[in-house]
Amino acid sequence: MDKKAIQILLTTIKASQDESLEDWFYWETYMQYISEDDFAYARKHSVMYDQEEISHDEICRRIKSAVAGIEKQKVVDAFVYSLSTRQLEYRSFLSSYCIAESLEEHSFTPSPEPNEDICAICGLHTSEFEDPIEFNTINYFKYKDGCCFDSLIQILFDVEQFSKLPVVKPTENDYRILNELKEIIETSEPSDRISQLKKRISKTVQSNDEERLGLLEILGVIGILHDDAHFGYPDQYITYPKREHRPIRNDDVGYPARWWQGKFGIDDQKWKYWFGNN
Ligand SMILES: [Zn+2]
Repeated sequence: MDKKAIQILLTTIKASQDESLEDWFYWETYMQYISEDDFAYARKHSVMYDQEEISHDEICRRIKSAVAGIEKQKVVDAFVYSLSTRQLEYRSFLSSYCIAESLEEHSFTPSPEPNEDICAICGLHTSEFEDPIEFNTINYFKYKDGCCFDSLIQILFDVEQFSKLPVVKPTENDYRILNELKEIIETSEPSDRISQLKKRISKTVQSNDEERLGLLEILGVIGILHDDAHFGYPDQYITYPKREHRPIRNDDVGYPARWWQGKFGIDDQKWKYWFGNN
């Protein structure tokens, strides 16, 4: 992707964060920190986007349509390629693809009161799609941290973005890192959780803490890290009420990696499904 366009995105959102602690993520706020020319440039290079009106049902329909055009091996390659290159924008396509594949197209289905504004299937809140949707903060987190996504708006962005990025192929070095990750997970202490695992992989994957969290959350979503009651998305879409939280305060780990412990090891079947025998 165009380096200048990426830089425009990163500096714009960062400026907004620095200036407006509470509302930096709103379109109206961050657009104050970018010139018209720069926005046009970033948009031309598929790094920044206009806002769009998209209904809940249309989000589902577009996700299914986009994911139908993606080959599984290409998103696996993108993920593995990101390990040594630290091109973080390639990382979340794998988990987003997995969620998109398992998603069933559905109409907005209100949760029981008092949460009738939240879809009981996907968890989207009406406030997320009743106004025009912006995608630039999502892309910011892709480039900055390689975040793992599970909201359908983020999934939509990822599966539609995938075909716009150059196709990449992992190297031997990437596979070496992948296998080291596997070994580190398998040699965890039984009571270890994601916080210990993050530390233990820090020498293998050049990364900061946020990147390590995203990486492990992606392994959760695709079914590799889980406990014996909370699973990832490859076998079936995990509906909103099933994405349970642990009964502790401030668990900042996404579902289902937050439930993983060393004693559950690695899901060999799912590892093979995604990464074969590499
Ligand atoms: Zn829904």
